[in-house]
Amino acid sequence: MNKIQATQNLNKVVTQIEGARLRVSDHHIVKLIAVSKYSNTKDIETLYNVGQRAYGENKVQDLKEKMTTLDELPLEWHFIGHLQKNKINNLIDAKPTLMHSLDSLELAYELNKKLLSKNATMKCLLQINSANEESKTGFSEEEAYEAYNSILNECSAIKLIGVMSIGAHSKERAEIKKSFLSTNKIYEQVKPLGARYCSMGMSSDFELAIECGSNMIRVGSSLFK
Ligand SMILES: *Cc1c(COP(=O)(O)O)cnc(C)c1O
Repeated sequence: MNKIQATQNLNKVVTQIEGARLRVSDHHIVKLIAVSKYSNTKDIETLYNVGQRAYGENKVQDLKEKMTTLDELPLEWHFIGHLQKNKINNLIDAKPTLMHSLDSLELAYELNKKLLSKNATMKCLLQINSANEESKTGFSEEEAYEAYNSILNECSAIKLIGVMSIGAHSKERAEIKKSFLSTNKIYEQVKPLGARYCSMGMSSDFELAIECGSNMIRVGSSLFK
């Protein structure tokens, strides 16, 4: 990816974000996370040089390697994948800006325990499986509020600041929209508990996600091509 291509990709996405967010409100600000999981550090650097600062990875090992290679740049790193128990310590040591994928109570308790033992904290989002898909991890719409509350009360090292969801795996926009609205409803419920981020929307559906209340989108293929 050269600089011209990167500029075009970023401009296109930013313009689409701008359109979608203004359909919600002047005051609706959306944060863009560039998902770099299929990209190399050279392309990340190119995208940084045209104005993109926050990146997301779904594997702890890749996150660590790319962070290390690019540690001269003031980048923000997000972890967006399913966290395996045996990778928890590595993720804590990497100190990501935000972990989007807290997807079970078991993981929350284990992560909290390890954070406490390292005298560390981690900002996290609760992952919602809003379409109840077997292929996805996360809390169901019914479980989410109680789980959010339990983690807030029982896991002092986890700083829970919102929710995350992957849109329904469907060609029907109405189905995808339904899943986004369901996650957004939970977001509204947990706002009084301090939630600030509703992370939803990827390359194929981020405009719809924003219109359904998302304020953090994770875009990969539209930025790196
Ligand atoms: C890969 C990935 C994305 C980005 O997907 P694109 O379709 O490439 O934009 C967003 N969120 C998660 C959790 C991902 O794994």
